[in-house]
Amino acid sequence: MSRPELRISSETFRANIEAVRARIEPSTLMLVLKDDAYGHGLRWAVETAVQTGIRWFGSYDIRSGLEVRRIAGRDARIFAWATSTDDEIDEALAHDIDLGVGTREYLSRVIARAAVLGAPARVHLKIDTGLHRNGVLPEEWPEALAEARAAERLGQLELVGVWSHIAEASDAEDDEAQTAFLDAVRIAGESGPAPALLHLTASAASWWRPELRGSVSRIGAFCYGIRSADGPELEGVRPVASLSALVEEIVDGAAVIAIGSFDGLPSTLSGMPVGTPGGTRTLAEIGQTTSVVEGWPGAQVGDEVMLFGPGESGEVSATTLAERIDSVGEEILTRLTPRVRRIVRE
Ligand SMILES: *Cc1c(COP(=O)(O)O)cnc(C)c1O
Repeated sequence: MSRPELRISSETFRANIEAVRARIEPSTLMLVLKDDAYGHGLRWAVETAVQTGIRWFGSYDIRSGLEVRRIAGRDARIFAWATSTDDEIDEALAHDIDLGVGTREYLSRVIARAAVLGAPARVHLKIDTGLHRNGVLPEEWPEALAEARAAERLGQLELVGVWSHIAEASDAEDDEAQTAFLDAVRIAGESGPAPALLHLTASAASWWRPELRGSVSRIGAFCYGIRSADGPELEGVRPVASLSALVEEIVDGAAVIAIGSFDGLPSTLSGMPVGTPGGTRTLAEIGQTTSVVEGWPGAQVGDEVMLFGPGESGEVSATTLAERIDSVGEEILTRLTPRVRRIVRE
């Protein structure tokens, strides 16, 4: 049986990066790479982004940060914000990886490791602006800053950034988060040299809420051409990845294709539209390793069916599929198993 293919367009990725960059200027684009670059492949994402002049990468954890360092070389700036072990901190310090620090406990450990290694840690301190997902609480912010500044005087730390993460679900909540963020930035500036790297927004707020952007914008989804669920289309941004499967058999006029829930296709997606050589058809049934698509005139074994993509064969985007099952486009991509062959195209 043939394997499904996830085709990845480098050209579209570069064009998306350019569109995002033009939109958010003068804020600097930090390309977010978590979950193996949202299922597109970390190595490909970094190599391709470097061609467009991207310098900032958000790797989530230190382990993938080290991989980014190997691929992108010495000039890249890498930001890893997962709370990590002491061994990982040591690796981060040795390879010049910026650390996102969101708890007092982690801050103390980072400083302790930097003291042992004799290398200053580049720290972006995270303020909790209401999401309660890691971040120093406003009432503890002055103490955290005092600890960071003391370490700074000892050459163990450089407070290079202040950051937070927002829900991007309602404008009012995001506005409140920004107020708390700017307060934290002001207090940081009063405690010592003002950190230059300020970042609050991800894809949606960076694109739609210019007034919330900091000097850096952490963006994943939109660079990969994944629009927000229930959000509008984005000018100049198209899906980078498209998922295809071949017709294995024609049964009673319907096409049986070689992809199923074992490949990571949620079975709840049955009933959705897919692209075929005869135009848009319905995906009638999703089995474990095969699925059934409503037929089209002249359908034959070896025909290609597009499950999602930019729409050239009548298929919809991963986000449009996700909306039908109350999910997000990222989920559709990151759930695909290794049996789905990744094919990069220029
Ligand atoms: C995932 C993530 C981002 C990027 O979000 P997108 O909506 O994909 O742009 C930014 N910041 C943090 C902390 C994240 O976890």
